[in-house]
Amino acid sequence: MADAEIGVIGGSGFYSFLDDVTEITVDTPYGSPSDSLFLGEVAGRQVAFLPRHGRGHHLPPHRINYRANLWALRSVGVRQVLGPCAVGGLRPEYGPGTLLVPDQVVDRTKTRAQTYFDGVPLADGSIPRVFHLPFADPYCPAARTAALAAARGREWDAVDGGTLVVIEGPRFSSRAESRWHAAQGWSVVGMTGHPEAALARELGLCYASLTLVTDLDAGAETGEGVSHHDVLEVFGKNVGRLREVLFDAVGALPATDARTCGCAEVHDGWKLGIELP
Ligand SMILES: [Zn+2]
Repeated sequence: MADAEIGVIGGSGFYSFLDDVTEITVDTPYGSPSDSLFLGEVAGRQVAFLPRHGRGHHLPPHRINYRANLWALRSVGVRQVLGPCAVGGLRPEYGPGTLLVPDQVVDRTKTRAQTYFDGVPLADGSIPRVFHLPFADPYCPAARTAALAAARGREWDAVDGGTLVVIEGPRFSSRAESRWHAAQGWSVVGMTGHPEAALARELGLCYASLTLVTDLDAGAETGEGVSHHDVLEVFGKNVGRLREVLFDAVGALPATDARTCGCAEVHDGWKLGIELP
């Protein structure tokens, strides 16, 4: 039997108070994930929690081993993943405390390994085939629906859809960059949403992002710009609420075998050259 069916990639604040948490370490062909997996039961479902930045929050966004993280989750049985993250709002109406469930992503990262199919031999000598994944709709529609329903059930008027632009970080945007992002019509800016969503797709996992706005990005406000302190403060104020929404969303996700979204069939007809865990 699998250890878990649903994965949550977020901070320790999402699982630290659960009664029965089992910590396991998982190694992957891509190296070590950010931390141990923490297994617990939420809403009758087995969930694997993974602190994205490590439990001490020591990994900056560009040093996170995203490939190992998604691989580790899949290897313990996870097939649906929720990825909460903190973001900056690119529109004045998306102020601190806004919850937005994006339906599009733009990649402006620079240095990250973002595919399992890069032609580099794996430890066992096998070489993955080139695989161009379909990514027109980066997020699982069923997981998005579950997240939005959970938010509304907790009277949090979440924004349904929008574009998450992911920057390399760890610095925040300059005012010019931020204005440019906003001028494109993009909604929120973060540092971890890519390549998480793309890698989940390559592994045939359902994935949805829940973005919590912690600040107005530099181009959307007129003050001093965003500070790390502000981000932590707003996130801390909302983490309990976000946890409730996440847990409700976990309960609202379809059973693994009952999914009709198509995320699991992304490899149909392809010879991968690697064996998925
Ligand atoms: Zn799906």
